[in-house]
Amino acid sequence: MDRLAAQRKRLDAACRAAGRKPGEVTLVAVTKTYPAADVVRLASLGVIDIGENRDQEAAAKAREVEAEGVAVRWHFIGQLQRNKARSVARYAYMIHSVDGVRLARTLADAVRRERDALLEVLVQVSVDGDPARGGAVDAPDAEDRALWRVVDAVAEAPDALRLRGVMAVAPQGWEPVAAYQRLAGLAERLRAEHPGATAVSAGMSGDFEEAVAAGATHVRIGSAILGIRQPPGVT
Ligand SMILES: *Cc1c(COP(=O)(O)O)cnc(C)c1O
Repeated sequence: MDRLAAQRKRLDAACRAAGRKPGEVTLVAVTKTYPAADVVRLASLGVIDIGENRDQEAAAKAREVEAEGVAVRWHFIGQLQRNKARSVARYAYMIHSVDGVRLARTLADAVRRERDALLEVLVQVSVDGDPARGGAVDAPDAEDRALWRVVDAVAEAPDALRLRGVMAVAPQGWEPVAAYQRLAGLAERLRAEHPGATAVSAGMSGDFEEAVAAGATHVRIGSAILGIRQPPGVT
């Protein structure tokens, strides 16, 4: 996979440019729309952090990959409906997209029923506070309550959920640098209260360099590794 090698080089270069150690940023390979065989192939090349954004697709892929005897860590990065919580709790290592108090509580219950290991949780924030965008907690300013309510709901379930940090997607029309610096500010405030919440999931194929410069610990890379996805409905 030439594209994987190239992506790894660019990620290492972005780390060095930011004065960070290559290797301190986790590459999450986003395999949505690609088959389980690609996950197995990535794992054989040392990429064991795998991102998916739809439960139906991810659950089936997780079963196939497990049947091959291959172990990876599934990162759920898409908007999550509460009625999918039990399914996701069966295979996910980390959920990047916890965006509400009720979802946090439902996930905690699902973890208690479905597994022994804690589920790692990131709270997804909307850095511009646009309520029209689904899947993100409104976090427009330092006083924002919604974000901290979700944080508290996760922190209140330490027997099931491990609060690990925050995630964001740069809003349309924003400079990625500005968006990710804002996210970094929220992450710093979160760490002040929850020292274990050190993760910042930010950056995709088009803007991971800016995210790494702003302190991302996890980048979510799909098309740069696997190729451009077909639009839905096109076969
Ligand atoms: C699909 C997706 C990615 C990866 O996007 P690319 O541009 O293909 O790298 C990252 N994050 C989320 C939330 C996604 O849904």
